[in-house]
Amino acid sequence: MTSEFFRIDDFLEQERQELVNQELWRSLREVQSAQSSRIIIDGKPYLNFSSNDYLGLANHPKVMQAAIEAIQKYGFGAGASRLICGSFKPHHELELEICDFKQTEAALSFSSGCATAVGTICSLLNKDDAIVLDRLSHACLIDAARMSGAKLCVFKHNDLSNLESILKRLRKSADSKRKILIVTESVFSMDGDIAPLKDIVELKEKYGAWLMVDEAHATGLFGVNRAGLIEELDLRERVEIQMGTLGKAIGSAGGFICGKKSLVEYLINRARSFVYSTAPPPCVAAAAKAGIEIIRSEEGKQRTATLWNLVNEFKQSLSEMDIDLSNVNSAIIPIILGSNERTLKASQFLSENGFFIPAIRFPTVPKNTARLRITISANHTPEDIRLLSLALKAALN
Ligand SMILES: *Cc1c(COP(=O)(O)O)cnc(C)c1O
Repeated sequence: MTSEFFRIDDFLEQERQELVNQELWRSLREVQSAQSSRIIIDGKPYLNFSSNDYLGLANHPKVMQAAIEAIQKYGFGAGASRLICGSFKPHHELELEICDFKQTEAALSFSSGCATAVGTICSLLNKDDAIVLDRLSHACLIDAARMSGAKLCVFKHNDLSNLESILKRLRKSADSKRKILIVTESVFSMDGDIAPLKDIVELKEKYGAWLMVDEAHATGLFGVNRAGLIEELDLRERVEIQMGTLGKAIGSAGGFICGKKSLVEYLINRARSFVYSTAPPPCVAAAAKAGIEIIRSEEGKQRTATLWNLVNEFKQSLSEMDIDLSNVNSAIIPIILGSNERTLKASQFLSENGFFIPAIRFPTVPKNTARLRITISANHTPEDIRLLSLALKAALN
């Protein structure tokens, strides 16, 4: 009887085969050491060039100590959502620290960057509104846009004239009460290039839109106080919704929104991923606060300077190999090879030689743009960079 229906085992096997055939099958690797520029996977040591722990704070003694002290004081689990009885002192202290760091009125932390994007976008927009996204926006921003039910428009990556024509069309075809939200990253996660934020701000003002900027890969790296690209470009007063993650340069886990107090109070009431989710463990918030404190200190300044020196050295050696990096302006260096097969082979070769650099493929990046995504950390040494350049030269031959 039941044999004529689609069995889940058959479905899963069919899907697996399809991914394997396209060289898109992925699996987990167990890391047996701390997050660092050196890691151990399956008993073998690697130089790690794949982490977003740009400043080497994920296993910094002060970050770990802050978490340990918070565990001793508050235990581990938060026990309930923030609005019930899960809003602990470390959560509030973290949010004050974020405000101070980003120079905004208020901030709200979430359990992840993904939950931040979904909760925020879905609470602000509905089917009568429109959302205009850069084509290379992170998957969680795209999913959030879809889930909101708003009309979804995508502009060509960093293309201001395409963005303007979409805004013009949206304004012509609807009443002025329609909300239009523009969403972009400040540093793009898979390409390492930066958005023309100042021009985007001008366009959103011209067309009466709102702007949400995801600073996941810029927080801790850009600006005099290392608060992000918005700080560097002095746009704080002109961006309605600033987003970031606590799990990258900050070295902990979670995501946040910062901006006006009225925005944060609204999200506390309406962002479903905030309201209906158990609060992150207080120790995670304490670790994030410690990470931000390091970033803002003299040590943070030095770590960022070290990082940029390493990035520049690496870019220099790649330009000698005729790899075009003219758009790359961050600690993310993509080596775009195109085919999945070629990228997997290069990644495999590097792995055999002790370098951990995974092949990034569709759907993380568009089809035929498979790449090695190399990320540099302040914990790397100039010698690490030299060895990497040599290995890449051999891998790409
Ligand atoms: C990593 C990332 C996120 C998601 O943040 P998590 O805290 O990892 O969930 C969101 N946006 C961008 C651009 C990212 O790179």
